[in-house]
Amino acid sequence: MKIFVTGGAGYIGSICVEELLNAGHEVTVFDNLSEGHRAALDPRAEFFEGNLDNPGEITTALAKSGALAVMHFAANALVGESMTNPVKYFRNNVTGGLHLLEAMVSCGVKKIVFSSTCATFGTPDRVPIDESLPQRPINPYGESKLMFEQMLRWFDEIHGVKYVVLRYFNAAGASARFGEDHRIETHLIPNILKVALGQKKDVSIFGTDYPTPDGTCIRDYIHILDLAQAHMLALSATDSAKYNLGTGGGTSVREVIATCEKVTGRSIPVVEQPRRSGDPARLIASSDKIHRELGWTPKFQAIEPIIESAWKWHLAHPHGYQGN
Ligand code: UDP
Repeated sequence: MKIFVTGGAGYIGSICVEELLNAGHEVTVFDNLSEGHRAALDPRAEFFEGNLDNPGEITTALAKSGALAVMHFAANALVGESMTNPVKYFRNNVTGGLHLLEAMVSCGVKKIVFSSTCATFGTPDRVPIDESLPQRPINPYGESKLMFEQMLRWFDEIHGVKYVVLRYFNAAGASARFGEDHRIETHLIPNILKVALGQKKDVSIFGTDYPTPDGTCIRDYIHILDLAQAHMLALSATDSAKYNLGTGGGTSVREVIATCEKVTGRSIPVVEQPRRSGDPARLIASSDKIHRELGWTPKFQAIEPIIESAWKWHLAHPHGYQGN
């Protein structure tokens, strides 16, 4: 199938593009390279450098691609930044997304797989988080993703655009070729691995007084290749649906650090810091629905092989894509 991928030069997008191409699909990437990297573009994909804020550009690229389906990864995704610059999040994630939907309608493209997030749930009343829980975002990032989810419903009802929403929990790990390299790195695992590489002297632990067994936040880390697999399955879904995507297991910040020490064989000094604003104590997915309906099961259930894959990539690319 011909697939149009926005944000295909970013962390999650680049690895999904790689897996789509491996499975025999034809891919056109649309990316403005503001967050993504040229070196993360799979050379087998066609590349169109463009902006979602430009409706003409997106419509031209989509029409030229001849795609039958869209995978929409392009977005800003930093919770903290969204709390200081909400305009950027609503403009890029909501208005930019609307331009994409408009282009889909005008080009007659009837299928979209959307990268959403557990941040649409805010602080959940219980874990694991299944799809029946109320969505109450606590930051503009989560709100912007929820607004796009809500628009999808109406584009389905009115224009027959079928959607699959995948709400990721904590994407982590790497493929053999592509990995995690953000210009501003706020994520836990790459920050710990920078310490292991000797590029930072310590890692901060944001909050040690959470109501969890070791006092640090618990997250559900999902291997990027399992995530990519879910996108492939979503392509073949015939009905519109929304799915939560994680392993169903939780790992605390201290446990992640200890596993990184084990995998790298290097000691990771830590500095205990106050809580980071907007961080719920525990986020764990229930992925029963996608398992039941699309047959998705994560191959990587444990944190150690996820970190091993990330470490391998960071060792090979100590300066990320800059060094390529
Ligand atoms: N975290 C931390 N130190 C860091 C980065 C993150 O203690 O340098 C914590 C963060 O507060 C959260 C967890 O690690 O509880 C995962 O954060 P990350 O930014 O990787 O993903 P998020 O859960 O925000 O999507």
